[in-house]
Amino acid sequence: MSERTPNFPFLSRPVSRRIAAIGMLGLAASLAACGGSDGSNNNAGATATLAVLETTDLHFNVRSYDYFKLAEDKSYGFERTATLVRAARKEFANTLLVDNGDTIQGTALADYEATISPIPCTQQLSMYKAMGALGFDAGTLGNHEFNYGLPFLNQVLGGGLDVEGVDATKKCAGAGFPVVLANVVSNKTKKPLVQPYTLLERTLVAKATDGKEVKLPIKIGVIGFTTPGIMNWDKRYLEGKVSTEGAVEAATKYVPELRAKGADIVVALLHGGLDGAAYSPTMENPGLHLSKVAGIDAMVMGHQHGVFPDTAAKPGFNLPGVDHKAGTVNGVPAVMASSWGKALGVVQLALQWDGAKWTVNKSASKSELRNIQSKNAAGANVYVDADPAVAPLIEPQHQAAIQYVKTPIGQTDFRMSTLFADVGDPGAIQIVNQAQQAYVAAYIQANLPQYAQLPVLSVSAPFKSGFQGGADYTDVAVGPLAINNAADLYLYPNTVYAVKVNGGDIKNWLEAAAKRFNQIDPAKTTEQQLISSFPGYNFDMFTTADVQYEIDVTQPVGSRIKKLSYLGKPIDEAQEFVIATNNYRATSGKSFIDKLDGSGTIWASPDANRDVVIEYIRKNPAVTRAANGAAKSWRFAKAAVAGPVVFSSGAKALSVAQAASLANVSLVAEDDGSGKGTSKYAIDLSK
Ligand code: MN
Ligand code: MG
Repeated sequence: MSERTPNFPFLSRPVSRRIAAIGMLGLAASLAACGGSDGSNNNAGATATLAVLETTDLHFNVRSYDYFKLAEDKSYGFERTATLVRAARKEFANTLLVDNGDTIQGTALADYEATISPIPCTQQLSMYKAMGALGFDAGTLGNHEFNYGLPFLNQVLGGGLDVEGVDATKKCAGAGFPVVLANVVSNKTKKPLVQPYTLLERTLVAKATDGKEVKLPIKIGVIGFTTPGIMNWDKRYLEGKVSTEGAVEAATKYVPELRAKGADIVVALLHGGLDGAAYSPTMENPGLHLSKVAGIDAMVMGHQHGVFPDTAAKPGFNLPGVDHKAGTVNGVPAVMASSWGKALGVVQLALQWDGAKWTVNKSASKSELRNIQSKNAAGANVYVDADPAVAPLIEPQHQAAIQYVKTPIGQTDFRMSTLFADVGDPGAIQIVNQAQQAYVAAYIQANLPQYAQLPVLSVSAPFKSGFQGGADYTDVAVGPLAINNAADLYLYPNTVYAVKVNGGDIKNWLEAAAKRFNQIDPAKTTEQQLISSFPGYNFDMFTTADVQYEIDVTQPVGSRIKKLSYLGKPIDEAQEFVIATNNYRATSGKSFIDKLDGSGTIWASPDANRDVVIEYIRKNPAVTRAANGAAKSWRFAKAAVAGPVVFSSGAKALSVAQAASLANVSLVAEDDGSGKGTSKYAIDLSK
């Protein structure tokens, strides 16, 4: 875009200038129309390609750096996506760079700048500073933009959020690009919390019918939508202050408004993705429905951290209307560019000029993802280089964040890992449950007398359980425990929630969690895989002597939890309990039990589970296997199986199973053949 100013991308013109510009353009268009009628050139028939470039779910990964491992990881990071952006700008004369949200949260650096050493009003967040090196044209807000509360969001967006509890007159450094969001409304003003859309005026380099290059004006409407789940996930910050609308309702209201203001094309930034369910205004991923709103020419998606279009043999989002080959959703060119800067979405919009305005030729448009990681001829992973301009911009903050996560808070006498959590090692989960239980119990005693008589229990899950390969396990070495270790023990930036359930609910909750296992046929003499595709982070478990149960994997889903007891007696289905868990499970865990739709929540705490773990370790700095890693609430029900029952875990880790007293686990093959750096183990269910 000829008007882009890469190093200082405050691109929206002041309103007065914009109105003037619209007037001038209108004049130009009418003159051109006159000219055209007598044969002179209004350039009707000219064509141009506008490449819409998308980043999404960057989650504050400026650098290709893992703050938990304190090591470079080239498989993600905006510093590499930036290289793809620069390449695309060389390739295409006209580009529009947009960010789709979940931008300001997700790394230790994000936490550092939000809570540990809050970034001053005068400075941009490091993420925005890095993005400024590339010059974004517009962006929207993801759900995670709300994680640090509205005053912080107001500050980092530069001010102007007119909402209860926020000083709307505060002026700060800001994002550096216009941020748009159409479906979150301030209850105070009944107006959108931030501008619902922006109308960008640009000049396109186009090709006239005679093949010559011509420059022609365009008005690009950019509108944004976030997922209504924010009202649950950040209830403590948002309840009573803002409200959400459905993306379809908001689009139906504002897209025509954008068109009326002269938008030639409209690009929708949806911080949400694709889901085949019927539309509802609170649905998390309404892309299929939003794509059908008239007047949307391109749609960039996110939130699901998925990829679209997907060139894999068996692509995801296998839904009616989703066309991976064409790169369209119900005919609308679309992308979803993974997460953490792993890919850049590129929508090439084919534009046609009729002498006065542009239209999109959707069938001539195309979408693709460009990845920072690829394979070379030898099959090894190769990565695009980091843009050298990015890292220096944030170096002092990056180093400060590293110092922050290295801060020692305790020590452990055992290797705390999830390598064998699937088969019964509570070594990395028990301390999370202990921390959550203590935190919720203390709060209830102090603040919620109506629940003070109920037992408080806790569930957690092996968040890192090998999905990404042999290194994707929580694995904390014997020795000092630092903040980065605690973050490894609790991977996600969830917050602690407490739900009230009864004994029957607990059984059903555990039944749902036990979907982690395939049904094992005892008669089968050939090898059977124990672990299903049900994610490890959903394998909720207790880790306390007070709750005991068996998981019978020879039984179908729903009939696997046996001998469930509390304090040594069969659990009373009617007895009430408080369970400490996290915001995601408590509000979007309806597939576990109905009460996990938010209705069972008795306390939505303001604190991150990770911080609760960190505080627990600060108070109990001598972490031991005996006290913090040996309480097995469950075991597999004994079963004689004719053939081997196998599973994969990290390479050469049998000693970890042995240290956890899992005598029924054995190593089958050092390389399980998956190419993911994992070994094959067997479990003898008869023991
Ligand atoms: Mn995200
Ligand atoms: Mg999201």
